Amino acid sequence: MTSATKTRVVVAGGGTAGWLSAFSLVTRLGNLLDITLVESEQIGTVGVGEATIPTMRNFHQLMGIDEREFMSATQATFKLGIEFENWGQKNESYIHSFGEIGQRAWMAEFHAFWMAARDSGLNDSLDDYCLELKAAKAGKFALAAGKKPVNYAFHLDATAYAAWLRKKAEAAGVKRVEGKINNIVVDEQSGNIRSLELDNGECVQGDVFIDCTGFRGLLIGDALGVEYEDWSHYLAADSAIAVQTESPEPPRPYTRAIAHDAGWQWRIPLQTRTGNGIVYSSRFLSDEDAEKTLLANLTGKPLTEPRRIKFKTGRRVKTWHKNCVAIGLSSGFLEPLESTSIHLVTTALIRLMKLFPFSDNFGILAERFNQESAVELETIRDFIILHYHQTARDDSPFWDHYRTMDIPDSLRHRMTIFAENGYVWPDDVSLFRVDSWIQVMMGQGLQPKQYHHAGKMLPPEGLKQQLAALKQQIENQVAQLPPHEQFIQKYCPAG
Ligand code: FAD
Repeated sequence: MTSATKTRVVVAGGGTAGWLSAFSLVTRLGNLLDITLVESEQIGTVGVGEATIPTMRNFHQLMGIDEREFMSATQATFKLGIEFENWGQKNESYIHSFGEIGQRAWMAEFHAFWMAARDSGLNDSLDDYCLELKAAKAGKFALAAGKKPVNYAFHLDATAYAAWLRKKAEAAGVKRVEGKINNIVVDEQSGNIRSLELDNGECVQGDVFIDCTGFRGLLIGDALGVEYEDWSHYLAADSAIAVQTESPEPPRPYTRAIAHDAGWQWRIPLQTRTGNGIVYSSRFLSDEDAEKTLLANLTGKPLTEPRRIKFKTGRRVKTWHKNCVAIGLSSGFLEPLESTSIHLVTTALIRLMKLFPFSDNFGILAERFNQESAVELETIRDFIILHYHQTARDDSPFWDHYRTMDIPDSLRHRMTIFAENGYVWPDDVSLFRVDSWIQVMMGQGLQPKQYHHAGKMLPPEGLKQQLAALKQQIENQVAQLPPHEQFIQKYCPAG
């Protein structure tokens, strides 16, 4: 490394990924690094990305972020899960919640006990045993129900989040340079990036470069030539339209994902407005018809003009190559059905901090980084495909395509075992818990033919009584929670 004592890190791009990178690196490795972030106001950011998953809380804790301050600054609300409407079947819905269903047993999952009780005449739904799910439906929220911590994530204003992170990062010593990157200088011998040349004549040199230039992937793609693997044969969506509206109702503590005849629509409640958007494939829906569908399905008055965004589903073949690490949209993109993009930014940053290159020997570190990143993205890809493929909908060419399409072997294996035996296991990156797979598989209409008989070892009446007591306990806990909006007003009102 060149700089006398510090490694020079250059972050290219100042969206959510760029400022999260700069902020976390300066917070946790600041004494060892000299960090510069280059961004262009003229180009701007993608400006969406408002729903998150609970892992964000762990990341914030690692970075020492004060939750209440962060929530006030980003007019955030709490999120207990996602409601999927019209996915498995038209006019049906289910919630994929962040909670545990029932109680853990080592040999068989809770749904096996519930199915045994159903065979003995129980009428209750599996949803009745999940605190977070019941609280979401009731519009209630607190950090804990009695002694039981509630598992939650956030809805947030993405632009405000980046601005808030910028303020913190700059205060901690990150240098921000305004300018459009015109040229990237690559060392002919080593193949490493040496510097970024800006339109104002400035030249920013570095040892390690983080490409956060969004879909453009200026460094990883244009300069280093790392290819993009197209996954549109699995996930056809290539377009979105976003619009912000007034909120006609108090914020619900969950995201809504509403499927249409082609594509689906998100509704994300913030404290003072709602984020909306439609995700679709240009193969099945024109931009004009998508916009009409979105505007016809808004509940509040629009506050912004509809904004069209085009994207390519897939990933960089390598997300770390030479001395450049791609983080955020430059590294790949999967549609926001399970709100996983910001999560991927945070896991990439944790991985980078653990594997940080304090010498010029990038190769072996990059290899490990790329392996872990690949498994992670494939897991999410499978989970998203599940929502589309496992459906009874046959009312449009869009649903016919997804219902009958070829799916990855990894997903087929998981679905077949669940369908035959009800067996489910955690994924390789422990992102979607067993409960997530169960809720989505069953919510989409995949009902196991068989289940583990551990529940049949108990007397049927005893089993039913245990389940009734659990259901009652959850009902009591939910009844004691305050309304979501009321909790926000006390805990983190928009600042
Ligand atoms: P961007 O926001 O595009 O930032 C790119 C940065 O690079 C900008 O600062 C830009 O100015 C700069 N730049 C580019 N070119 C140059 C240049 N030549 N010179 C200088 N600077 C340059 N994620 C979630 O977690 N939850 C969601 O609900 C969610 N919803 C989404 C919905 C849609 C439709 C889309 C497309 C994405 C969604 N995402 C979501 C993903 C999320 O928006 C992104 O992961 C996140 O915003 C990070 O984006 P980014 O910082 O990589 O890119």
